[in-house]
Amino acid sequence: MAPSDSSPKRWKQQLREAGLRVTKPRLAVLGLLTKAQGPLSHSEVVDDLSTEGWDRATLFRNLNDLAAAGLLRRFDVGDHVWRFEVIHPTDSELNHAHFVCVDCGDVRCIDGVELRAPAGERGILRGPVEIQVRGTCEACT
Ligand SMILES: [Zn+2]
Ligand SMILES: [Zn+2]
Repeated sequence: MAPSDSSPKRWKQQLREAGLRVTKPRLAVLGLLTKAQGPLSHSEVVDDLSTEGWDRATLFRNLNDLAAAGLLRRFDVGDHVWRFEVIHPTDSELNHAHFVCVDCGDVRCIDGVELRAPAGERGILRGPVEIQVRGTCEACT
């Protein structure tokens, strides 16, 4: 994402357009997730932002408010942990995949994926889709 896209100014505008008040925790959460290389769990967000003085409940509420407003995507890669990521303007669920390490559980984003529904197949790719690639990350090899 271009640096200008992660500016607080852009987020302030997006928050207002989504009908949410601009608050420091919301801007901090959006800033953190913009810089991250993959989606972050609530605990990871707490680890990073608790030094700012916000407690777990505040950060959890803000993550869910931002997801409900469509600024964040919330999903579970199969380990029953909600992870959150910024929805990029050019991003769709069909060109964005997640690599999940089967050893350490690390989750990374893979952009530029192209998924096409097989011709003649009906009844798939309806509703939200998540593309997942499972394997072993470099650190675990
Ligand atoms: Zn790993
Ligand atoms: Zn992602």
